[in-house]
Amino acid sequence: MIEIYNTLTKQKEEFKPIEEGKVTMYVCGPTVYNFIHIGNARPMIVFDTVRRYFLYKGYDVSYVSNFTDVDDKIIKAAIEGNTTSTEVSERFIKECLKDMNGMNIMKATKNPKATEEIDGMIDMIQTLIDKGYAYVVSDGTVYYRTKKFEGYGKLSHKNIEDLEGGHRDIKVTGADQKEDELDFVLWKPKKEGEPFWKSPWCDGRPGWHIECSVMSKKYLGTTIDIHAGGEDLVFPHHENEIAQSEACSGHTFANYWMHNAFLNINNKKMSKSLGNFFTVREISEKFDLAVLRFFMLSAHYRNPLNFSAELMESAKNGLERIRNCEERMKDILSSYDEETTSTNEEKIDIQEKLFGFREEFENAMNDDFNTADALSAVFNLVSFINSNINSDLAYDIVKEANDELLELTNVLGLRVEREEEVLDSDIEKLIEDRQNARKNKDFAKADEIRDKLKNMGIELLDTREGVKWKRI
Ligand code: AMP
Ligand code: ZN
Repeated sequence: MIEIYNTLTKQKEEFKPIEEGKVTMYVCGPTVYNFIHIGNARPMIVFDTVRRYFLYKGYDVSYVSNFTDVDDKIIKAAIEGNTTSTEVSERFIKECLKDMNGMNIMKATKNPKATEEIDGMIDMIQTLIDKGYAYVVSDGTVYYRTKKFEGYGKLSHKNIEDLEGGHRDIKVTGADQKEDELDFVLWKPKKEGEPFWKSPWCDGRPGWHIECSVMSKKYLGTTIDIHAGGEDLVFPHHENEIAQSEACSGHTFANYWMHNAFLNINNKKMSKSLGNFFTVREISEKFDLAVLRFFMLSAHYRNPLNFSAELMESAKNGLERIRNCEERMKDILSSYDEETTSTNEEKIDIQEKLFGFREEFENAMNDDFNTADALSAVFNLVSFINSNINSDLAYDIVKEANDELLELTNVLGLRVEREEEVLDSDIEKLIEDRQNARKNKDFAKADEIRDKLKNMGIELLDTREGVKWKRI
């Protein structure tokens, strides 16, 4: 039985899927205006591991995680870089996918982008207006009528009076024309130079919260099993998502709400705004990203984790211990000329031990995904293998120990089976430029770009299926 700590009920609950054998998960993704930092990487690694454990337990998992590609910060970055919001977001989506690949995050079932889901957002906002949960003011802004939704505050365990108290100093100005200070924006009018879409209310763009309500429903259904993200999203983002989705459908939005604690640096939340961050890309210059993954999993996801060079070094050593064991097993297995079979007694004894480690691992993961304890189960297995498994044993039992080690490390995503490598966006751009030059019969330029790429370590191959590349 898998138990999950549910933010909604503030307790661990047995996981019961909506549909037998299936899990639907939505994880709020990053706003793509820069390289992701390792704080953003924490939910990615944690919830990817949750997904992998469900897969290991035989569930079919649909995993959706969005990219917020329309936002004030993206617009600001575009203005500063003298480019468009689309260029900024497209570039950093690619860079993010590259980092995710490096951290061995499985490809999502779907990574929807907010800008491609505007129609759905307009539909949901219209439904909310029709049901009296939203209203339009004279400049075309649409607000959610927060107090009309009875359950408001149920996720963050705040009651509406406290919230009002907290907001007392925020004046409802004539300019924003809100009926109530707790009301939040669903749609806002465009400003000069900003991206916008047509809507029944004004040319403008959606508020942030509506996107996740819409994408979760579209790709996973009205009620989903798990909705997840960092704990800073509990209020107001997830609270508002619940208000929107449940007012719209009349049904529960998500059965289990999971939130990871912060990745800190000197005990302060790592964040772009505080400037106290390392990007995943920076870390990748010093460490294999599997080390970062190991480091993240060495703490329970609901405990704050302090980033430090020492902890990264010890993560590196820990990972090396597992890798060395895997290497040794590979060597032993390749030393057999034929696949021999052990006697029953020999086998039963070792199998029992192996089963014990697997059980220890599963008990830890069943307990609200305690990856820290799961890692110690893996280390116990490694110690056992190091002292008990050698080439004097028959092939079948060595193979069994090896397979268990690989299976468990794979659940934690520490085994590297990389998906296709994603190139840096500037290299992709050069490949595209060369294709265009060829199309325009500018072969001199095409050759020049080919040489440039060669100097960057990328060789191009023109095949019948199009241009392919390989590292040289
Ligand atoms: P953002 O791009 O700020 O919307 O963040 C994307 C995801 O990263 C959200 O789930 C955040 O809660 C999470 N996140 C941001 N900073 C941290 C941090 N320092 N520690 C853990 N999670 C974080
Ligand atoms: Zn969200």
